[in-house]
Amino acid sequence: MDFATWAYPWDVLDEGPERVEARLREIGIGELNLATNYHTVQAFAPHNPERRTLFARASSYFEPGPDYGRLEPVPYEGMDGDWVDEIGAELTDLALTSWTVGCHNSRLGMRHPEYTLETAHGDDLVFGLCPSQPAVQRYLTALVSDVASRPGIERVELETFDYFHGTGWGWHHQKIHARLGALGEFLLGVCFCDHCRSNAADAGVSVDGVREAVADTIDDIVAGAIAHDRSPEAWLREHDAVAAYVDVREATLEGVFADLRAAAGTTPLGYYVGAPEPGREWMVGADLDRLAEYVDYYCLPAYESTTEDVLAAYRAVDEVTADTPLHVGLLPGHPAIHDRSTLVDILTELQAAGVPRVSFYNYGLLPSRSLEWVGAAIDAVDG
Ligand SMILES: [Zn+2]
Repeated sequence: MDFATWAYPWDVLDEGPERVEARLREIGIGELNLATNYHTVQAFAPHNPERRTLFARASSYFEPGPDYGRLEPVPYEGMDGDWVDEIGAELTDLALTSWTVGCHNSRLGMRHPEYTLETAHGDDLVFGLCPSQPAVQRYLTALVSDVASRPGIERVELETFDYFHGTGWGWHHQKIHARLGALGEFLLGVCFCDHCRSNAADAGVSVDGVREAVADTIDDIVAGAIAHDRSPEAWLREHDAVAAYVDVREATLEGVFADLRAAAGTTPLGYYVGAPEPGREWMVGADLDRLAEYVDYYCLPAYESTTEDVLAAYRAVDEVTADTPLHVGLLPGHPAIHDRSTLVDILTELQAAGVPRVSFYNYGLLPSRSLEWVGAAIDAVDG
């Protein structure tokens, strides 16, 4: 079993790559999943020697290469030089992975609302770029090509390279005082931008009817005429045209992943699954069976509190895509895991289940005592 930890570049640089490397090696971790292109964040940094918190808008932590087209990552304003290259150059004993955020980017969404998801009611969702848009596709493939070609990057992991939607819409003060449920939330994220509509129309789907059904159902859920806990899968079975619309975007995303695969070259490619729920990745347009052809593995962040819940999440995804290696992410801190023995137990069970690699979330966000639990848990399964 291999062990990695996610990390922000400021936490690595404030402490010093050499010291971070030594500390991680000491607790048995051999790999850093470094945020290279990332969404807006306000991070609490409990053991950072320079600060306790940092706010950054959606940014890249490298200077982008030249071939992005209309959408280009915006380098972080507080960065001097190229942090990804700097960390890559200074690490000697840790493997480096690009932790890469794709469509979830409020800064680019606000600058370019024409490329964001558009709801059935006609609203732009600024937190999410739509992967049906050619400009977004070019941005995503350029991004993967850019990070994959950087010195020291040994693999690329993809976060929200899909029709990302759901609660947790970035740093906005989200206000929803209507009970949408899984179905309502899913429908609110179904995109009706020009390209989503034309792709579906080209496939013979009656787009206007789909849009009306989606908008009406959202309003009916809010009014209580449709139960908020109606199963999205059951609802889709009764709405063939919407199901066909959803199929078209899955096919579109498959095409995007084929391009991402080519852009990554020989660099291994992983995709973060489990959103909005483990086993329900179809809601963000991801058919894990079909995408498996283009990625080397999936990684499931299973930020649960008990062994039972972590394993249930793992099985829910593994059932969908049994032949693709499935890595797991754990959160050994608030609000998930609060003690050493629970972490030891979870890691022991994941090893027994044959999980090849576990990543811990995240070096700079975890209190030092959580890092000690990680060391104890790795000792327990490796010892
Ligand atoms: Zn769209």
